[in-house]
Amino acid sequence: MKSILALIASFSLSHAAEKPNIIVIMADDLGWGDVSYNGTAAVKTPNIDKLAAEGIRFNSGYCSASTCTPTRYSMLTGTYAFRAKNTGIAPPNGPAIIRPGTPTFASLVKEAGYSTAVIGKWHLGLGDEKPDWNGDLKPGPLEIGFDHCLLLPTTNDRVPQVFVEDHRVRNLDPADPLWIGDKIPTPDHPTGETHRETLKLDWSHGHNQTIHNGISRIGFYTGGLKARYRDEDLADEWVKQSRKWITSKNEQPFLLFFAAHDIHVPRMPHERFQGKSGLGLRGDSILQFDWCVGELMKCLDELKLAEKTLIILCSDNGPVLDDGYKDEAVEKLGNHNPSGPFRGGKYSVFEGGTRTPFVTRWKGRIQPGVSDQIVCTVDFPASFAALTGVKVPANSCLDSVNVMPALLGEKDAKGRESVLQQDNRGTSFGLREGNWKLIRNAEKNKVSHQLFDLSKDPSEKTNVAAQFPEERKRLIALLDQIIAK
Ligand code: CA
Repeated sequence: MKSILALIASFSLSHAAEKPNIIVIMADDLGWGDVSYNGTAAVKTPNIDKLAAEGIRFNSGYCSASTCTPTRYSMLTGTYAFRAKNTGIAPPNGPAIIRPGTPTFASLVKEAGYSTAVIGKWHLGLGDEKPDWNGDLKPGPLEIGFDHCLLLPTTNDRVPQVFVEDHRVRNLDPADPLWIGDKIPTPDHPTGETHRETLKLDWSHGHNQTIHNGISRIGFYTGGLKARYRDEDLADEWVKQSRKWITSKNEQPFLLFFAAHDIHVPRMPHERFQGKSGLGLRGDSILQFDWCVGELMKCLDELKLAEKTLIILCSDNGPVLDDGYKDEAVEKLGNHNPSGPFRGGKYSVFEGGTRTPFVTRWKGRIQPGVSDQIVCTVDFPASFAALTGVKVPANSCLDSVNVMPALLGEKDAKGRESVLQQDNRGTSFGLREGNWKLIRNAEKNKVSHQLFDLSKDPSEKTNVAAQFPEERKRLIALLDQIIAK
């Protein structure tokens, strides 16, 4: 009897909470086919390939939406973005979308004693009604579980180009306050339309308002000149500050959300990457992102933390070529296929919109390999909570599934049975279940469905809804059930 109890005790102990450091590296608009470990020959990503070779490559790794803001919302909160209001692409003066008190993956692991930071692009709004750019920028990340942040507050094709460090705009001179608005401040304010000939990166559609660093953006702003960064220096600064923060946390478990801006527009990587990919600035930005991944891996090696750290690499949505700037993404594409074998990309609920590069690595703990299990960024809160021994509060993280055993590649571990994909505002949905894929489009209150068999047709070219009426019916019911939950 005693030996059985001892056995049970040792079994429970071996399944007790583990507290590795966690680094979530999220790329921006990086497609399935944009990494060389997925077989692309057009662009080389040696650091991402190394991470993938040392960890698990997921063939069915997803984000939950095909644009930035809803994927980030659902990844942090574990609840699909369409369930909440105003979770589409956030405007420059948008308030904090995730309200204080909402559990997030950061607040959950904080309960387990983690130190937490987000460094990079935020794009989830700041402030109660709008950001107080010259005062305290809260609520923000620090009110939903992060101890520290160094942010690009919105997204770089929108104003302003300043760093937000914790609650303040960094290096802001009170004598030169920041003003941000959606109306032109003075009739002579230079814009991408009036001063187009001065631009170093021309716009193709939209993106023609206030000019900073030779690039016009969405929205208007004045002031804060000393606080403004050069686009070319964003990645370097985030890597530098991530290294500094990780080094300062050497003795305790930490969670870092490294939210790269590469390869979102405007694509303006550091000069040392420009012209290096042969694919134009989009490809050059992939090289810069790959460099960031390499630097974070190097930092862990230097601090001997690689065996104490779970790294998850993912993307917030699929690829897009011309997203508002004439950066030759189309002209220099050649044979490169950013979505790999999949149809669609950013803004789409076809697979290319949400099925992206997805890798986990934890040296010494994860057996390197390839997984076909379905996992999604919305699963991070429940999975991190399970790993670190924290209970998810009732009525929160509604769509988050604990897929940690699958993320760690444990024997016979299952991922999700199905995964929902949404577009920017949750108008159209995709539902993948096994090898079936249902698409629900809604336009002008007219709903239509398509059905694809991904085992025979991964590119979603042939709608087989008419041949499989039972599957169509069953999946429509399942999708309705998930939406109504
Ligand atoms: Ca994005």
